[in-house]
Amino acid sequence: MDIPRIFNITESAHRIHNPFTPEKLATLGAVLRLEPGTRVLDLGSGSGEMLCTWARDYGVTGTGIDMSQLFSDQAKRRAHELRVSDQVAFIHGDAAGYVAAEKVGVAACLGATWIGGGVVGTIELLAKSLRTGGIILIGEPYWLQLPPTEEVAQGCHAGSIADFLVLPELIASFGKLGYDVVEMVLADREGWDRYEAAKWLTMRRWLEANPEDELAKDVRAELTAEPVRYATYTRQYLGWGVFALMARE
Ligand code: SAH
Repeated sequence: MDIPRIFNITESAHRIHNPFTPEKLATLGAVLRLEPGTRVLDLGSGSGEMLCTWARDYGVTGTGIDMSQLFSDQAKRRAHELRVSDQVAFIHGDAAGYVAAEKVGVAACLGATWIGGGVVGTIELLAKSLRTGGIILIGEPYWLQLPPTEEVAQGCHAGSIADFLVLPELIASFGKLGYDVVEMVLADREGWDRYEAAKWLTMRRWLEANPEDELAKDVRAELTAEPVRYATYTRQYLGWGVFALMARE
C-alpha cells in the first residue's frame, strides 16, 4: 500500500508537506494552548513534523497515520532524532475510517481531507476520536481570489472552481456544520514558495540520479513546467490555512 510514487519523489526532501513553515507550525501549536500530555491524532501525518515538534515543544503525545511508506519511515526517524519516540507513534496505513481507541484532545487532518471524502466527511471522521471539548484541526486550501475561469482553477491543480471556497465562505461553512472556529493560522506566500519551490531542486537532483527511471520523463516535464505554472496560478489564487474547531453547545 502506498501513495502514487510521484509524490514520494517530488516531496522526498520535505519535512512539512503543506505551505506551512516551521514557524507557522510552532505558532499553531502555541495558539492552541496545548497542555502537556494532550493526546493528538493526525490523519495523513506525512513525515511527522507536527507531532514530533509538538511532542518536543509542548509535551503532547500522539499517533499519526499515513499511507506513504517513505514519509512514515521519515516520521519515525524524526521522532528518534528529536528524542520523542516514547511520545509519538506512526502507523503506515490508510487513514480512511480510522478511529482512535482512546479519545484525543486534538484530532487533525492537515492537507489531506480527501481521507474523509472532503472537509465535511473528515470533520465527521475526526469527531469520532475526539473527547468532549476537544479541538479538530482542518488544514485546507481556499481561494485568495475567485478564479475567473475553470481553466485558471485547473492551473491551480484544482479539479474545478467548486473544489474550494473563499476564506469567509470556508469559515462560514464550519459554522453551518455546528462548529465554532476558535483559532486559525494561515499560510503566507513565503510558505507556499517553500512548499512548491522545494520540489524543484528535489526533482532536478532526482533526475540526475535516476535518468533511466520509468518516471524520468514525467518528472522532467513537471520540472520544466512547474515554476511558471506555480507563479502564474497557485501563487496568485490559492491560500491555505489551518482552522481549529470546537463543537457548539
Ligand atoms: N499532514 C502532513 C502531510 C500532508 S500531505 C503535513 O502537513 O506535512 C498529504 C499526506 O496524506 C501525504 O503524506 C500522503 O502520504 C497522505 N495520504 C494520502 N492518502 C492517504 C490515506 N488514504 N491515508 C493516510 N494518508 C494518506
